[in-house]
Amino acid sequence: MNDEFKTLKKFDAGEGREGFFYSLPALEEQGIGKISRLPVSIRIVLESVLRNCDGQKVRRKDVEALANWDAKSPANEEIPFIVARIVLQDFTGVPLVVDLAAMRSAVKALGGDPKIIEPLVPVDLVVDHSVQVDFFGSPRALELNLDMEFKRNRERYQFLKWGQQAFKTFQLIPPGIGIVHQVNLEYLAKGVLSAQSTINNQPSTIYLPDTLVGTDSHTTMINGLGVVGWGVGGIEAEAGMLGQPVYFLTPEVVGVHMTGQLREGVTATDLVLHITELLRAQRVVGKFVEFYGEGAASLPVPDRATIGNMSPEYGATMGYFPIDQESVAYLEATGRTEEQCLAFENYFRAQKMFGMPLRGEIDYSVNIDLNLAEVQPSVAGPKRPQDRINLPDLEKTFRQLLEKPVRDGGYGKQSVDLREKHLVELNGSAPRNGGMASTDTKEDQGINPGDELNKIEMVANRPTPDPGKEIESESTDVFLPGRAHIGHGSVLIAAITSCTNTSNPSVMIAAGLLAKKAVERGLRVEPGVKTSLAPGSRVVSDYLHKTGLQKYLDQLGFNLVGYGCTTCIGNSGPLHPNIEKAIHKYDLVAASVLSGNRNFEARVHQHIKANFLMSPPLVVAFALAGRVHINLAREPLGKDRNGEKVFLRDLWPSLSEIRDAMQTALTPETFHKFYRDFADQNPKWNDIPSSTGDIYQWDEKSDYIHEPPFFKKFSMESGHIKEIRRARALGIFGDTVTTDHISPAGAIKESSPAGRYLKSRGIQPRDFNSYGSRRGNDLVMTRGTFANVRIKNLMVPGTEGGVTKYFANGEGEEMSIFDAAMKYAETNTPLVILAGHEYGTGSSRDWAAKGTRLLGVKAVVAASFERIHRSNLVGMGVLPLQFPDGTNSQSLGLDGSEFFSIVGLSETIKPGQTVTLEIEGKDRQKRSVSVKVRIDTPIEIDYYRHGGILPFVLRQLLSR
Ligand code: SF4
Repeated sequence: MNDEFKTLKKFDAGEGREGFFYSLPALEEQGIGKISRLPVSIRIVLESVLRNCDGQKVRRKDVEALANWDAKSPANEEIPFIVARIVLQDFTGVPLVVDLAAMRSAVKALGGDPKIIEPLVPVDLVVDHSVQVDFFGSPRALELNLDMEFKRNRERYQFLKWGQQAFKTFQLIPPGIGIVHQVNLEYLAKGVLSAQSTINNQPSTIYLPDTLVGTDSHTTMINGLGVVGWGVGGIEAEAGMLGQPVYFLTPEVVGVHMTGQLREGVTATDLVLHITELLRAQRVVGKFVEFYGEGAASLPVPDRATIGNMSPEYGATMGYFPIDQESVAYLEATGRTEEQCLAFENYFRAQKMFGMPLRGEIDYSVNIDLNLAEVQPSVAGPKRPQDRINLPDLEKTFRQLLEKPVRDGGYGKQSVDLREKHLVELNGSAPRNGGMASTDTKEDQGINPGDELNKIEMVANRPTPDPGKEIESESTDVFLPGRAHIGHGSVLIAAITSCTNTSNPSVMIAAGLLAKKAVERGLRVEPGVKTSLAPGSRVVSDYLHKTGLQKYLDQLGFNLVGYGCTTCIGNSGPLHPNIEKAIHKYDLVAASVLSGNRNFEARVHQHIKANFLMSPPLVVAFALAGRVHINLAREPLGKDRNGEKVFLRDLWPSLSEIRDAMQTALTPETFHKFYRDFADQNPKWNDIPSSTGDIYQWDEKSDYIHEPPFFKKFSMESGHIKEIRRARALGIFGDTVTTDHISPAGAIKESSPAGRYLKSRGIQPRDFNSYGSRRGNDLVMTRGTFANVRIKNLMVPGTEGGVTKYFANGEGEEMSIFDAAMKYAETNTPLVILAGHEYGTGSSRDWAAKGTRLLGVKAVVAASFERIHRSNLVGMGVLPLQFPDGTNSQSLGLDGSEFFSIVGLSETIKPGQTVTLEIEGKDRQKRSVSVKVRIDTPIEIDYYRHGGILPFVLRQLLSR
């Protein structure tokens, strides 16, 4: 055992069980730093550094540097953090397993033992991102959506089953079980982990804090339980799996001191939207945020988890809550064993880290106060989660945005009459179902909507929400009247979705109670609203049934559609074809309301421009109202059977109603019942055939799984760092280009390079599936890079989508970004991307970096970078460079016709060094700008030199 500092001590792990731990109090006694005043999150990372201090990967000086963390000026040191486990979801997990399989193939080709490629820490992959809302508002929606999901994803699932048998430390949770972060919170997380070892020649148990990274930015949800963890790119996660530390720079820690209590009528969602706005303004990007004080202590773990979940939206690496009695209570309530709960509590007591810190006990870099009593009911949108709007102001704000010019973030409509509506026939006999996957407008696809409606399966049976369980729904009226009236601001999607909220029983039960009161008053959801309920675990369905609330949700169309990400990730499925046609024809700014965490343009649905985040009960309320331009404080949601106006306040459940319902519904046994024998509970998964063996047999016929080119021509020689000369611009972008702009997850447009490629392979548009589901195929993903329909390349002003200008000479020829990149590749022309602030913001998406690399981009020059995307670019061997303050492509007057050279790059480059961006215009005049190399740590220099993290790790493994 490593015990460089002689801190390995005994403690009582509970009921007389003796355990060992690496004691931070013992380290402090040696005079190495004021550890007891460090933020709790920093202490947990310090424990990992101390425990793994072996003089090689982790050195003494790493421990000393972190133990001496200075709140006011944290040293710019890289911390080698070895995590205890890794979580993946399928969108990011499939390409990661593809890379591992490709590495095994490469090792075999070099004559090595493929089994040297094996995860060294436990890896859990939850298949949650693939379910789409094709069927809704129907008792059979869950079953039919699951059928579609298995049909569409069969090849991916076969591949994952191969991975399950090939890698020993890899657990797979099949589709239809839940959402990764909710499953992590309710089941995977243990709080403390234990490992068997030999100490003083005796078999012994060592305890360590549960820590992790995940390939999903909302991994931070687990921070609500006191577990340190955050989202990393797939590339870093791969390195972590292969025994490399996850490196990050010593962060500042922002302490948010919470006081007071949430008022009646204010939800955890309102609180997290408030925090997102507050912390965005405080610029917490790249920092840890730690919540503490009496206010934090008063919040139950599900509320804390909601706040942790949205860390990426406020920009922080983590939104962490220290461990206290509430954390233990949550583990007990969710069915963790008594032994686990005791070990958890005793471990953190032994580390003197148990209990919510109070003001003055800990040194934070920045202190912020937050009085919970000041939080207001809110929504956020229509494009960014930090744009919070007090609920009564939504009507006014939407009107203003509608008429505001597009360049100022509005929709540029003039003299809009919001009372103007367009009649849309929905064919009264059709179920509320779009019927088939949608990509372009149906007009574009040449599909006659009438034909499509004929194909829709009539739904008459009762739903089966989870295996062996019968819904108690009394609703048979799932076929709503056949006419919708839609206009600007009409709500066309109302989705109770996203782990952010579905893991929180208080808001889910509030949605059910509101639905109950609405049904009892005789209110109905507007025809044309696509309603859905997609919880993050089957526990939610269980308590909605036990409380009798699901039947009211059903009656409003919020039938269960699946246990997965759905609308939150953009898998909202098609709207009724006639509705899509009407939006297109009248250029409507239609709205979605969802309980998710992100609302970037085109994320939720390609045809919906205004997307508002809100709590689940508000989602139900807006579905009833049918529009977002409504002041719910003074306008009624509708009229009851007696013609009486019904206001939101008439339906809103009280805190005591919510608490009463929760007490009767949630038991530890529920969690035991749903979190066991996953495969047995999903016969469709068992029916998927799987190949066996250590090496994956790549199948050229597959359009989902393809061997990536990262290890083609692989040799043991690393490359050299050298200047980039006479590169061309592939794209020039403004601020806030998201990873979804760079590598969209949603629908594949038929006319896009990826769509054309799939058609050339004989695949029909209805079977395209999404980009997210095809991340195991580099041929599709490279074509999909920068192919988001909303991305605006300033090289081709006035256009949207993945277009650019190809400059062989002269004025430049307009073509798709992929086509231009391939033409440049023919002449070995290096490429650059130029961008504004927050480049790569949004989900951690390794394909945003992989696709950039495979298009031939050598450098991205931006005003600023999102943390994970910057590190992913380096991880793929693409150079991130940062403009000086106040400089960008607009201030430099660039139009993309220039040549770009990066001068001063060499083998001796240092992190953060300045190099010169030399720009040569059409007139051959040269200008120079100093740009900062955003390779931030020494290890990243190595990654860059080797052409990325994977070749670096592979060479290390092969040279052992
Ligand atoms: S529900 Fe949304 S936030 Fe949660 S894992 Fe899925 S996509 Fe991410």
